[in-house]
Amino acid sequence: MGVSCGGHLRDTWDRAFDRCSRFFPCLSDPARRSALSLKLALVVLHLLFPGVLFLLDNDLIEKTKQEPWYTAIYVLLFVATLVQYFITSGTSPGYVLDAQKAVDERDALARRELLASKQPASSKNGSVSITVDGSRYHRVKENATAWTKLVMDLYPPGLSTRTVTCPYCSVVQPPRAKHCHDCDKCVLQFDHHCVWLGTCIGQGNHCRFWWYICEETALCLWTSILYVGYLKTNITKAWWADVIMILFLAAMSISLIFLLLLLLFHCYLVMTNQTTYELVRRRRIVYMRGIPERVYPFNKGICRNLYLFCCGTNSIYRMERLPRTEELEEKARPYTCFDILSCRCC
Ligand SMILES: [Zn+2]
Ligand SMILES: [Zn+2]
Repeated sequence: MGVSCGGHLRDTWDRAFDRCSRFFPCLSDPARRSALSLKLALVVLHLLFPGVLFLLDNDLIEKTKQEPWYTAIYVLLFVATLVQYFITSGTSPGYVLDAQKAVDERDALARRELLASKQPASSKNGSVSITVDGSRYHRVKENATAWTKLVMDLYPPGLSTRTVTCPYCSVVQPPRAKHCHDCDKCVLQFDHHCVWLGTCIGQGNHCRFWWYICEETALCLWTSILYVGYLKTNITKAWWADVIMILFLAAMSISLIFLLLLLLFHCYLVMTNQTTYELVRRRRIVYMRGIPERVYPFNKGICRNLYLFCCGTNSIYRMERLPRTEELEEKARPYTCFDILSCRCC
């Protein structure tokens, strides 16, 4: 009886699922299904905390009627946070394969144009162009793909392509790139794979990720203040409501502490031009092994780091060259009074 009932339920579920898949074809793909479930859970979670507050807090509803702008700003922040979440999770972190494809295609096009016009190879129109450390990089060479040559020039001489080729994607990785096993792709300037967003955080979306944490922290702080306000004025009115509000406030406080620490951590990473992966797994990265602990090889000073992080999107794929030994020695030099006065760190 139990078995037949279970079988009947399973059949009903399968039929309902097939019907849904017909209307929404994306549901038939397990990866897209789990991504959609994650996003749905996030929206529900975001609606739950303010929803409970507006259900139980009559003073807040009164305040909304008297001062609608207060709640309007809160709702605006709420919507902006959700929009930022969807934009960040939908933005490509910058995959190495895409960059390679773009560079090789532009190189092939340049070669075809050169052949057609029969101009010398040094012509500017026929070169591959990509941003390397802020300057335009032009190059056309024979006997190897444009990408391999471009990447190998970013490393100090003596390194073989085998050392920096990803065993999973078979692509030559530029410095700071790493293979993500969740996405199964190599990511430029890999920071970490974010389970919450369901994507990698890399060169293409790190700035957006920072803004998302910032907005989420502000929203969490504001909601916590509203909860504290309720408990201050309504305590002992209904014990069950107090218990619910205290539990929600506790969960909110834990999230707020986590978000604040995450925000501060990413501010530090941005100011020193590091990634989470470089900071945590420094000894594992081949080209970082010989570099002293307190030297950040890609650090260009706080102002330049901030500028590149916020506005350095003039090229989709921004490559960073590994500094030479003399440059590393200069970075490792201890600070003097003159360095502090001249703002060497900036
Ligand atoms: Zn890879
Ligand atoms: Zn990933």
